[in-house]
Amino acid sequence: MKTIIGLDELRASRLSFKGTVGLVPTMGYLHEGHLSLIRLARAECDNVVVSIFVNPTQFGVNEDLSKYPRDLERDLSLIEPLGVDLVWTPTPEIMYPTGYQTWVEVEAITRPLEGSMRPTHFKGVTTVVAKLFNAVQPHKAYFGQKDAQQAAVIRQMTRDLNFPVDVIVCPTVREADGLAMSSRNKYLEGEDRKAATVLFRALSAAKELYEGGERNAGTLRGKMKEVLASEPRATVQYVSCADYDSLEELDVIKGKTLLSMAVLLGKTRLIDNFVLG
Ligand code: AMP
Repeated sequence: MKTIIGLDELRASRLSFKGTVGLVPTMGYLHEGHLSLIRLARAECDNVVVSIFVNPTQFGVNEDLSKYPRDLERDLSLIEPLGVDLVWTPTPEIMYPTGYQTWVEVEAITRPLEGSMRPTHFKGVTTVVAKLFNAVQPHKAYFGQKDAQQAAVIRQMTRDLNFPVDVIVCPTVREADGLAMSSRNKYLEGEDRKAATVLFRALSAAKELYEGGERNAGTLRGKMKEVLASEPRATVQYVSCADYDSLEELDVIKGKTLLSMAVLLGKTRLIDNFVLG
């Protein structure tokens, strides 16, 4: 496994690859969720590239960029046994050199949900993913369903900009009690960690109604809010029952649907979702 930082080295390695290339973009501090993406890429592609880059442009001014957990040594030891060919760890100066002024912005689909709470977030995400696609030129790129809107936005960008990349979205990996794995879970301590299962419980309760035949989206949103309200430590930012592709809020559920939410536990912001249908 080769670990590289610079763009020139990346290009040289990319040129030496024969066959298909799979890319797994990450911000590091890896957990089983990331590893599941890497394992699938390994199974499907001749060459696997993992990028580790805490992308400053996707953090808002009041967000946790400087506190975002980092441990490259630990990340490399987790990746090593998976048979990855290349780990690329560019610096912010490589990705955004002095004078940088080009951005990729996706419109309507970035506005609701996460976009409503974090208005500059997706501009940073799409710009960095476009730059990763250009640099690595993967055939396939692997993303997690955990970040449902991110996956939808990247699918849209890939279509709109004609990137010849197959975007693969992988299922959310969870802890035994249902909490979706996330690098940010490290901040959850004691009672907040226990309370964090409320997201999974709220989604499960709404899914149960759906499976019992309920198709009124407002009723499902109401059920999720009711379960979340039962946890005094949780502050709800949004609860949504939306069309899976457009992310528009629904009145009545017809096709593939995304139940999603963002919840604060203390200062830790958690998101989670289920796909219905
Ligand atoms: P991050 O390092 O948080 O930017 O995540 C890198 C990739 O891993 C993204 O595509 C995430 O959606 C994905 N990911 C994060 N957590 C999980 C999880 N629990 N299960 C599956 N994929 C995940």
